[in-house]
Amino acid sequence: MSRYAECYVCDDCGAEFDLQSLENLCRLCGGLLEVRYDLDAVADPHALISSGRGMWRWGQLLPLPAEASIVTLGEGDSPLLEMPTLSSEVGVRQLFVKNDSLMPTGSFKDRGYSLAVSFAKHLGLDSAFTYSSGNAGASFAAYCARSGIDATVFVEDVANEAKRALISLHGANVYQLKYQSSKEIFDAVTGLSSAGQYSFVNFINPIRHEAMKVCAYEICESLDWKAPDVVVHPVGTGGGLWGTWKGFCELRVLGLIDKLPRMIGVQPKVCAPLVEAFVSGKSSTTATGDASQTMAQSIAGDDMIQGGKRPLRAIRESNGTAVAVSEDSIARAMTDLGAAAVGVEPSAAVSYAALTEGIRDGWLSADDRAVAVVTGVALKQPSVLVDVTPSIKGLVAARTSEMLKVLNEGVES
Ligand SMILES: *Cc1c(COP(=O)(O)O)cnc(C)c1O
Ligand SMILES: [Zn+2]
Repeated sequence: MSRYAECYVCDDCGAEFDLQSLENLCRLCGGLLEVRYDLDAVADPHALISSGRGMWRWGQLLPLPAEASIVTLGEGDSPLLEMPTLSSEVGVRQLFVKNDSLMPTGSFKDRGYSLAVSFAKHLGLDSAFTYSSGNAGASFAAYCARSGIDATVFVEDVANEAKRALISLHGANVYQLKYQSSKEIFDAVTGLSSAGQYSFVNFINPIRHEAMKVCAYEICESLDWKAPDVVVHPVGTGGGLWGTWKGFCELRVLGLIDKLPRMIGVQPKVCAPLVEAFVSGKSSTTATGDASQTMAQSIAGDDMIQGGKRPLRAIRESNGTAVAVSEDSIARAMTDLGAAAVGVEPSAAVSYAALTEGIRDGWLSADDRAVAVVTGVALKQPSVLVDVTPSIKGLVAARTSEMLKVLNEGVES
């Protein structure tokens, strides 16, 4: 075990469980489990970080036993790009994009599955399931393929053909779910855990989001151990935002940074249960909106697992906020990011979309240093990519003279 990981602790009743076992929800009360660490025992935090590349440089802060084999495809160490043009667009001192879409399966899900699959494999699991709007399924399938675990993925109906095909490409069994509301899915997968099926669904699985801490570690390391003022993250289940927040908090306990960022969670306006709960001061979400009306497939849901309690808590603890963005604003963010050389899917573009409204709405200020985490590549939704971008300029014969004409004169009409 990472020497510092101690046990699972239940959010609700405080019960503790041995980390040498595969646990989902608390066996006593059904609450969410969290991995607890003894960070006071760390003598030199800089000595925790190994050399090399990728997420596993931070293995000492992850709950995988030291003797376990790591299931890796090269995840982590994604670029933190400074975006000078976009920062003046937004009106902040500095803006960075943390490009977490540049992972082995094209989304930020890979850190979580590298860790969770390694962990489960070590404890002897040989078949497993998750449910997904697409990206989680592809990532899960890839890491299961790598480790020889038989994978089954239940996909939501928002998952497009390409995403479904990617899951199959990695050899998983794929089923499309029939349901009316997100809550039916949450109830069903919770039922599967109670029936003894180990689940890889965010939060029900207490290991996946631990790997998202590394996003925060990498950001702070790149900024010479200064936390940004604001971190903006798309929110589906909130596992990414929660894990990243946990990472920042750990760095502060370790003395590597001295202040914490405000966490901003973003959802599409047409289905924004987190935003609605945040704005009305509630500690958990209720069903709202219509998930079929957004192009942001990877974060489309009319409700959240376990009422979104953890992401709501992270946002409030950090003095952050929850922001809903329109479909127009998502499309514009996608093309603006694209023009600035970062090609992402709509669900990833929401972080930048939110930032463009931050000054106007008062949660962002001109001397802020902001990080927009982007989570999935543009090719994940080919039809949206085509819809939001200009069509080609025209046809030209493959002859020097014709091509020269186009280059010199611009478009033929
Ligand atoms: C899964 C996913 C999200 C949402 O992540 P959560 O951890 O469920 O909040 C956001 N963007 C993309 C591209 C995703 O694949
Ligand atoms: Zn409990």
